[in-house]
Amino acid sequence: MRSRWNQTTAPLKWDDELPLDVDLLVVGGGFSGLATAMMVTAERPGTRIAIVERSPLAAPGIAFGACEPPHLLNVPAERMGAFPDDPAGFLSWLSREAPGAYGEGDFVPRALYGTYLNVLVRERTRARGAKVGFVRGEVTRIRRVADAVEAVSRSGAVVTARAAVLALGPPAGRAPWAGVDEGAPPSALVEDPWSAGAFDVDADADVLIIGSGLTAIDVGIALVRRGHGGQITLVSRNGRLPLPHPPAGEAPHSFTRAELEGPPRKVLRMVRSAIAAREPMNQGWAAVIDALRPHATALWQAWSSRDRRRFLARLRPLWEIHRHRVPRPVLDEIETLKANGRLSLLRGQLVRVGVADAVRARATLDVFGASPALLDVARIYNCTGPARSVRESSDPLLGDVLSSGIATGDREGLGLCADGSGRLIDARGRPDPRLVLVGALRRGDLWESTAVPELREQARAAARVLMNVLPAGSPPSHRPTAGTQRVARRSRT
Ligand SMILES: Cc1cc2nc3c(=O)[nH]c(=O)nc-3n(C[C@H](O)[C@H](O)[C@H](O)COP(=O)(O)OP(=O)(O)OC[C@H]3O[C@@H](n4cnc5c(N)ncnc54)[C@H](O)[C@@H]3O)c2cc1C
Repeated sequence: MRSRWNQTTAPLKWDDELPLDVDLLVVGGGFSGLATAMMVTAERPGTRIAIVERSPLAAPGIAFGACEPPHLLNVPAERMGAFPDDPAGFLSWLSREAPGAYGEGDFVPRALYGTYLNVLVRERTRARGAKVGFVRGEVTRIRRVADAVEAVSRSGAVVTARAAVLALGPPAGRAPWAGVDEGAPPSALVEDPWSAGAFDVDADADVLIIGSGLTAIDVGIALVRRGHGGQITLVSRNGRLPLPHPPAGEAPHSFTRAELEGPPRKVLRMVRSAIAAREPMNQGWAAVIDALRPHATALWQAWSSRDRRRFLARLRPLWEIHRHRVPRPVLDEIETLKANGRLSLLRGQLVRVGVADAVRARATLDVFGASPALLDVARIYNCTGPARSVRESSDPLLGDVLSSGIATGDREGLGLCADGSGRLIDARGRPDPRLVLVGALRRGDLWESTAVPELREQARAAARVLMNVLPAGSPPSHRPTAGTQRVARRSRT
């Protein structure tokens, strides 16, 4: 890594002091929260912003903060710019910082993207008198009071803001181990694979990974790169790995909106026939899936509630593995481990965690279509990803905003309801101009609400709508001096 990076890429400076009063509170310091804060700052440089983030990761969010050198972005570099008016901004940054190292279609290490974001955020939030503070802490409660928002942290600190952005990421899921026998070693159960010490495990011990998606792959590769030699077993209900990105140079495909009119099964037919038509030309399926993406939100919004439920029940797993693809070299590494017998993938589920000995748990797996399996493992990693529904989530803030009625869940339970600009819709059906939602919790309205290309658009819309309620820009030095209060860090297990 070139020295200029080392000078400029130290993580953002987070502290424990929460101001008593700010213009904008941003809950969540992942891509969505940071992008929204940068865009607000660009419009209104003097806005006093506090960004509150509960995790101690050095770079934003799990995707770019909880990763290691071998973990690659799953979106090509030229589409990962942080701002909608400069989608190639990340690629330009790379070509300035490491000339010739990466090209347009390359899948770049995710940690490098985290560095790019840190550099960008630091530059933008220091520019032109911006007043942005970064606070480690967890917001557990939010209330609307007159023309303000009041938020309470886990430690009881209270901050008042003119408006708040909820950029919480996907709803946290529950650990997949319901039945744990007394005496099962607690060290064997790793609820958060990115928590400190999660990979400190005897190199010869067998381990079990629950899940077979992007996080499961990351964890498997991280273990192997650390010299882990024990057997790695992945188990998931569908028993399938994500599919790889196609080789460069595939012919693109496109659909008109009219071709995709109709319920999910009609769309599936269209997709299948488009894929079949490409086969004689040796063109793969990936471009057909990509051609659906520009229509995904319109399709989702046109479907009835019944259509959506059918899609979620029957087609969602298929969509996920085709849509959330991994770079080919990553999958090759997993396939090689499988071929060498070092990694296996089962279709089934964990039903019980018992005791093998003082340091190993005995996992009972219901293997679909085969006899149950018993595995004695030193670690069981929870890689099941977010909760499928906000109703299943254990997240305290989500529970709070739903029970207080300042937010409503969408019918399918995927997230919270918001209007087109992201303004949260309350239990009486009114959009709240002071509470704006950005990120995965908008899936219920938009379906596609996952990756940087769509999140940067949401951040821009959020920043624009916030201009209606944020102060019109009196210089911060004219404001009364606000106090601060200490926020306890969230302890991670
Ligand atoms: C393994 C993996 C790889 C990915 N790779 C890519 C990729 O290559 N390209 C791409 O475009 N996208 C990728 N994604 C999707 C990625 O998640 C999004 O691009 C983006 O990072 C999401 O940002 P976010 O801010 O919306 O959510 P998050 O990154 O989840 O950030 C939300 C933050 O809010 C914090 N938070 C939540 N609740 C509270 C609270 N109450 N108080 C304080 N803090 C709180 C969380 O700790 C979290 O840090 C990947 C995702 C994963 C999991």
